[in-house]
Amino acid sequence: MKFSASKSPLLTICMYPFRPELVAPEAPSDPAAQIGTVAWARLAAHIEGAADPGNGEELSLDDAAKVDAIVAIGKVWLERERASMRAPKCEVKYAWSPSKDAARELPKTSSLRDYSNAKADEVCGSTDLEYLADDEVLTVEDCKTGFTPLVNYVPQIRTLGLFVARSRGVRKIRVILTKLYEDRPPESIVSILDGFALDAIAEDLRNRLAAAPASEPIPGGHCTEMFCPARLVCPAVPALIAELVPADALVKGPKFSHTFISHDHDARMLDFCRLLKKAADDMKKQIELRTPQAGVQLGDGRWLGEGTHYETKFSEAQLKAKIRELGEAAKLDDEAIDLAIDSCSYRYEKSGGYKVTKGPPKRVNALPSKKTEAA
Ligand code: SF4
Repeated sequence: MKFSASKSPLLTICMYPFRPELVAPEAPSDPAAQIGTVAWARLAAHIEGAADPGNGEELSLDDAAKVDAIVAIGKVWLERERASMRAPKCEVKYAWSPSKDAARELPKTSSLRDYSNAKADEVCGSTDLEYLADDEVLTVEDCKTGFTPLVNYVPQIRTLGLFVARSRGVRKIRVILTKLYEDRPPESIVSILDGFALDAIAEDLRNRLAAAPASEPIPGGHCTEMFCPARLVCPAVPALIAELVPADALVKGPKFSHTFISHDHDARMLDFCRLLKKAADDMKKQIELRTPQAGVQLGDGRWLGEGTHYETKFSEAQLKAKIRELGEAAKLDDEAIDLAIDSCSYRYEKSGGYKVTKGPPKRVNALPSKKTEAA
């Protein structure tokens, strides 16, 4: 499977997905990723002075509301924090040749991830935003949404920094990772890559890509957390299945396989998936019951525990009640309308699930974390 800059974090841990002969079926787009894509497309249009493309038809009403909130906060942030950027460009595609350590900008096409103009020996990536900052340093920025910690994307922005620097012939570049939120201002991680740092990134990338063809799977939390596209074809998965399901259960019936054989086979695979999911859910429940609430430190210094975060929801029932109530009022000013809308939102502590992390799990409040609607 072809490497692209967005998979840099995965490449630093497991190179197996990038074996050239590996063909993975395309996974359906994750709703959280769709929110980020739509929100950024709208902010990019705002930066470039183009018409707002809107949220499209595919998002649910809840997700569209999230995008609206991200875009509203993002526009304020752009006006305040990025107002002085010069010659801003959004969604620029690059191709980098590992053997020549040279990059070039690819022509714009209608599809964001269309790298069909790249040569066979080139790997590609797209920047969200690039501009010349006040201090004359070329700056590349990648914007994220969702719950994945921003630091996990550092390899990606460093790879993009390399592509842009090589393409523009500069030996110094600023790279910024920004997390866009629906309920608070964005947060950023900023670093400057000098010539030595860029050379080191190029060498590391070249070495890893060269090692990929002979690499073996390294299963772990990253398989799901970094959205490995090879999960369905990775040999580590049947090995785990063999541990979960007795061998004779598999030899009697159809084999677990993602390849289409027949609809009868698909029906059996669906049963298998449900069985595996149940077994995995039961296993997770056992782990959760054994894990102390504050988390537990592992032998290698990392932590196992449950992190939590806040979510803000909009209550349709409260909105309907409020509209009925407001219908009786003669006149409303902006403040009253804002207050009315705010009163329809409620905030609650949500579990981010049990994970292995570098430090103790982050918690925003004490459990229990049940939904509590604001009065
Ligand atoms: S599923 Fe995990 S082990 Fe398999 S290729 Fe992907 S990251 Fe590597």
